[in-house]
Amino acid sequence: MTKKQPLVLATRNPGKTREIWELLKDFPVEIKNLDDFGPIPDVEEDGSTFDENAYKKASFTAKVLGLPALADDSGLEVEALGGAPGVHSARYGGPSATDQEKCAKLLQEMEGKANRAAAFMCVISIAVPSGPALTYEARCEGLIAEAPFGENGFGYDPVFFYAPMKRTFAQLSQEEKNRVSHRGKALAELKDEFDKVLIWIRQRL
Ligand code: IMP
Repeated sequence: MTKKQPLVLATRNPGKTREIWELLKDFPVEIKNLDDFGPIPDVEEDGSTFDENAYKKASFTAKVLGLPALADDSGLEVEALGGAPGVHSARYGGPSATDQEKCAKLLQEMEGKANRAAAFMCVISIAVPSGPALTYEARCEGLIAEAPFGENGFGYDPVFFYAPMKRTFAQLSQEEKNRVSHRGKALAELKDEFDKVLIWIRQRL
């Protein structure tokens, strides 16, 4: 049996960790996240694109821990708000705003807006400690609901209405969401090539 390759998820977000773990669980990888290590400094997500932030998180984590790292940078772009909250999705409504508060702020900003089009974006970066990285990206289009619905998921899931399934993301099971979500699609692409990715990683360690 091949030895499992450690791969650190550059996150402390349990929602993301669960989704990524679920999608990669059949591969010879030992998934860890930042909570498996002692305190390490936070990366400032000050890039202007999802791509920049994903690479920054992955390469910083890989360098600090000396292990390959996977980072996902994601967010919600709302057409009527000029693409906001976008790369600021995690901090929308202030750094300590809860998911409910973020959804409430978004619904307030959307009051009276006829154009409810939005898209979740996800960029995944896998970096090795010496710097090089691979990138995967995907988007998922939906509509901003008039009010929150559903209990599952995290973040903006209760206000993201996914028309093909006629439900918000928070009304989908984890498995249903993974099949169609931005992160699910980016990870599916990664999953398709994961054998090659493992070779790519091992050649650079
Ligand atoms: P970051 O990628 O850690 O910078 O955070 C992205 C933010 O976008 C999260 O904190 C959520 O608020 C939001 N977000 C990203 N992906 C999802 C999702 O699948 N569902 C709901 N909200 C999401």
